[in-house]
Amino acid sequence: MSQAKLIDGKIYAERLRAQVAEQVAKLKADHGLQPGLAVVLVGADPASEIYVRSKGEHSLAAGMHSVTHKLPADTPQHDLLRLVGELNADPLIHGILVQLPLPKHIEERAVLAAISPDKDVDGLHVVNAGRLASGLPALTPCTPLGCMILLKETVGDLSGLRAVVVGRSVLVGRPVAQLLLQSDCTVTIAHSRTRDLPAVCREADILVAAVGRPRMIRGDWIKPGAAVIDVGINRVPFDDPVKAAAGRTKVVGDVHFKEAMEVAGWITPVPGGVGLMTVAVLLQNTVTAARRQAGLEAS
Ligand code: NDP
Repeated sequence: MSQAKLIDGKIYAERLRAQVAEQVAKLKADHGLQPGLAVVLVGADPASEIYVRSKGEHSLAAGMHSVTHKLPADTPQHDLLRLVGELNADPLIHGILVQLPLPKHIEERAVLAAISPDKDVDGLHVVNAGRLASGLPALTPCTPLGCMILLKETVGDLSGLRAVVVGRSVLVGRPVAQLLLQSDCTVTIAHSRTRDLPAVCREADILVAAVGRPRMIRGDWIKPGAAVIDVGINRVPFDDPVKAAAGRTKVVGDVHFKEAMEVAGWITPVPGGVGLMTVAVLLQNTVTAARRQAGLEAS
């Protein structure tokens, strides 16, 4: 049996971060412009804290202006909205990211809607979602854009390929489907009501899994030679019963990796695949936002 080629997210994320650092240095030298990113965290969710720290560290390493606002979990919605308003008006800040999920008493939609679409580097404002769906230039959600970079770097020209996206979330499934369509793929979006999901998946030259169910997509759902992009991040107990009994967990994707390796042509590992691209694309989006706000062409 042939083995799929691994799509190593580390390589592509490092390359993109290096390109961003070059762009930042050039913007500073040519225009006196330093792209600025503000990240807002409400509460102390441990996973969110790790993501937020990583975003701050990588933006500083790329030479950007970086600000992190940590607010207590019981912050009233109007206080968060006021902070977003201040960041919208701050000329040193070109990108605003409010880390999700937010505490239950805060309405996520209201907060996302309050971010200026020009500074919406997470690409979740309806204006950016609408622009993406209309094929207009938009700030695009980071993980979907990361998936596309990995596909273009490995598969190359995607034109005419059959793509199946499993998952239809606003965060991942829908935008990745829009981007695949822009790349001239024939796109199917599958979800929890899709009938005979294995048969739908088997049609895919490109299979993107964004479900949130550990190892749901089995090897015999995959067309031989397909490119498999596994967005899923799921915490499960270790297979080793001793480690599992000690309560230790590990991260796996939505695809049964071992089985998929035997069938696919390309595959992203979890961890080490798509997840690493997300922050790198966030930095790129911040540079794009800064350029547009300064009236420069997007890079
Ligand atoms: P959501 O829970 O918002 O969406 C999951 C989607 O999967 C829904 O559209 C749902 O369908 C569909 N689904 C659920 N169960 C099934 C099933 N049995 N068969 C077919 N479809 C199903 O998740 P997200 O899109 O936010 O995230 C998906 C995964 O990606 C998660 O594991 C998440 O942790 C990970 N993720 C990773 C990121 C990264 O940086 N790598 C960033 C963001 C997310 P329906 O709409 O019908 O309910």
